[in-house]
Amino acid sequence: MTYLDYAAISPLDKEVMEAMHRAETQFFANASALHTPGHLAMNQIEYTRELLAKLINAEPDEIIFTSGASESNNTVLHTFEGCQIEASPLEHHSVIEAAKVYNGKKLPKLYSCMLANNEIGDFLDLEKIVKQAKKENAFVHSDLTQILGKVSIDVKKLGVDYATFSAHKIGGPVGVGALYVKKDTPFKPLIIGGNQEKKRRGSTYNTVGIIGFGAALEKIIREKTWEKYDQDVRHLRDALAQRILKEIPGSSLNTNLKNSLPNILNASFEAAEGESIQLYLDAEGVIVSTGSACAAGDIKPSHVLMAKTGDAEVAHSSIRFSFGLENTMEDVDRVMAVLPGIVKRLQGISTIPAKSISRDNS
Ligand code: PMP
Repeated sequence: MTYLDYAAISPLDKEVMEAMHRAETQFFANASALHTPGHLAMNQIEYTRELLAKLINAEPDEIIFTSGASESNNTVLHTFEGCQIEASPLEHHSVIEAAKVYNGKKLPKLYSCMLANNEIGDFLDLEKIVKQAKKENAFVHSDLTQILGKVSIDVKKLGVDYATFSAHKIGGPVGVGALYVKKDTPFKPLIIGGNQEKKRRGSTYNTVGIIGFGAALEKIIREKTWEKYDQDVRHLRDALAQRILKEIPGSSLNTNLKNSLPNILNASFEAAEGESIQLYLDAEGVIVSTGSACAAGDIKPSHVLMAKTGDAEVAHSSIRFSFGLENTMEDVDRVMAVLPGIVKRLQGISTIPAKSISRDNS
């Protein structure tokens, strides 16, 4: 199988799996309990908290564990219930939908702007948002789910008040995430009814999951993975982009290769439907996605591609290839061994008039 859907989920890392396996028997106790096994479990949780804090240049106390990025995003927007909330149009649905629910007229204002988008990989102008927020005494939240490990992060330099993370995008388990909340900024828990996380997030600790998150963070810190992404993974991504443009008539890129995460490539194929391409690739053992997996099955075109291209046809004919550290040039070759034929076949039976391709020119 050629797996190019790392932005949806990165497979569980071997080191993570082993750490979690050990934790199942060693640290099974309720981490809030006052007995020794409870303390031992809590020590492990605090270790993960320190690792994340170190990696993003925060204080451990500024990190709250959650069930994932969706919960982290919801928690921040919920804190600003009834206040003015301005989310960038490229945000993940967990921000966009929460903004619809919580947006109001009160101050202070909250801006929500990711550093780079999960569907196309493009960087957004977070710096501009932070400057604007300073002028207005507003707060800034940034969903950094896709950034962790790919680009080095310093929340102080970024100037954000809140930041969101998820373990399953970095080789950790699904169902574990974190929220950075800068000291002395407003906070209102989303999940109440427990003293965990200093009353900032109730519910029994997911100790094994948090230990897995820690193992994934340890690897990032040890290997400085952002350097590998910048060199090796970018090289693969760019090679695929160049080959797609050269070898597939009617193809275009939705990712700005010069200003994007190194591991994401979003491309459109004129007169070929994205979902059909995805299914044909799947049959060949090549795993990709159309936009964001969270919106899979949605017949509406991706809001991100609509915001970027304004063209529903381009949006409907898009595929996201997202790379991880395990990919090699063989994976690029494997894609290019089957993708041109699939696109050509679909273009041949399409009822959508092809603008720039002649059906038999390739
Ligand atoms: N934000 C972004 C940018 C994402 O890419 C995702 C996952 N697709 C999420 C939030 C949701 O993450 P989780 O599955 O951890 O809730």
